[in-house]
Amino acid sequence: MSDISKNIETIQTIIQKLAKAHDIAQDNIHLVAVSKRQPLEKLKEALECGHRLFGENRVQEAIEHWADFKKEHNDIKLHLIGPLQTNKVKDAVSFFDVIETLDREKLAKTLSSEMKKQGRSLPCFVQVNTGDEPQKAGISPKDLSLFLTLCRGLDLDIVGLMCIPPVDEPPALHFAFLKKLAQENGLNNLSMGMSADYERAIPLCPDHGQLYIRIGTGVFGARDSA
Ligand SMILES: *Cc1c(COP(=O)(O)O)cnc(C)c1O
Repeated sequence: MSDISKNIETIQTIIQKLAKAHDIAQDNIHLVAVSKRQPLEKLKEALECGHRLFGENRVQEAIEHWADFKKEHNDIKLHLIGPLQTNKVKDAVSFFDVIETLDREKLAKTLSSEMKKQGRSLPCFVQVNTGDEPQKAGISPKDLSLFLTLCRGLDLDIVGLMCIPPVDEPPALHFAFLKKLAQENGLNNLSMGMSADYERAIPLCPDHGQLYIRIGTGVFGARDSA
């Protein structure tokens, strides 16, 4: 067995155990394998394990990673989990399946018009800056409700909320906060939890929705430095 298949199996076992312990439907928890800055060889290994759901944080790299594999496997699903510049929106809309990082008004407007142009309505998560960190992308919790109204007015298909907690605070507090914000705003799905903290996220899987955990090094091992 390759390391990657062992890693995926380990994570699936943890998901299974935690889901059972917290009375959560296991099928509602989804492993997004984050393949940024990983070699093609490792992506191929993950595909050979039958894994199909991947996260990338840059549009150009995602295309380099996945364009050929997508021709061989029509069931690959790609989530954009990194900041999206408006000049990359056209490629992002045509190449990705889900946008997890909708984080500002200008992007909402550009996504909306590009999706209409391409006739492709991608599900979007709004990224929330739960710690209100000045250097971090995302909508401030206090502005969320207004931002969602704007997005819905633009016909964007907002399916949930995404966050990256501050490094120096307990992630579970931020995950619980994100879940509460989603409930208050009538959103079903959450994207939260990475290699170091996904075990804190799983117990907070939405009651009537899906949880996406985004795991890079935990699946593929250490990646190239940026
Ligand atoms: C890189 C990245 C991940 C995966 O991080 P790991 O610690 O390697 O699991 C998850 N989410 C986002 C937004 C990322 O940029």
